[in-house]
Amino acid sequence: MIGGSSVLSRPGGNSPPDRQAPGGQTFFSSAPREDHGRSRTNTTTRIRALSRSGELEERARRAHEVLRNCVVCPPQECRVNRIEDEEGFCRTGLLPRVSSYSSHFGEEPPLVGRNGSGTIFFAGCNMRCEFCQNYEISQCGGVGYAVSCEDLAGIMLRLQERGCHNINFVSPSHVVPQILRAVALAASQGLTVPLVYNSGGYDSVETLRLLDGVIDIYMPDAKYGRDDVALELSHAPPVTPAACRLQ
Ligand code: SF4
Repeated sequence: MIGGSSVLSRPGGNSPPDRQAPGGQTFFSSAPREDHGRSRTNTTTRIRALSRSGELEERARRAHEVLRNCVVCPPQECRVNRIEDEEGFCRTGLLPRVSSYSSHFGEEPPLVGRNGSGTIFFAGCNMRCEFCQNYEISQCGGVGYAVSCEDLAGIMLRLQERGCHNINFVSPSHVVPQILRAVALAASQGLTVPLVYNSGGYDSVETLRLLDGVIDIYMPDAKYGRDDVALELSHAPPVTPAACRLQ
């Protein structure tokens, strides 16, 4: 099982002041809003079908195996054993690290609605953009909370309970296997809101296939049209073909 432990470490100690670590404690400063039902239009019916048929579990299992010799994002192809908690370019071992999660109102209006987009910001990244506005989170390592897949599922359900219109995975490319496992768990516990994949566009076709039918909305960046610029500014060789394949 991915992240079988329910341990939630807090190495960075930098939790936002209005939130505490997931796992049952208070995480939002205000009371939940009403009118949840209208946002739950069950666009995740597919996920439930995938879950019932066992397909989702099977994909999560296959994705987990990729971590053993990690090529989750093939242009990097670090081939470290993340199941043994080795870290590659993304500075993330077995457990994903969550920098923060919240009902977020800074996304595109269709995602925000009345109650916000349920954003989950992952620490670490498979790019190292010189211009990154979240440099400390994406590139410094050891930031945020290491969460098990059970914890991650709990976060999704908590955001849904809060009335968020969707679950919005931000910088998810390097933790897709863990996300798949967590979605499988959350779906079995009642997750119904749509899922948003908000990535830097540096994703492998193989990894995206694992997400097919699971993710409802893709929001990839297309940062570059020239590989030499991508390499210089994001240390991402060669990113352009991958981005182009998404078009
Ligand atoms: S997910 Fe991380 S360790 Fe795996 S290939 Fe990409 S950068 Fe390397």
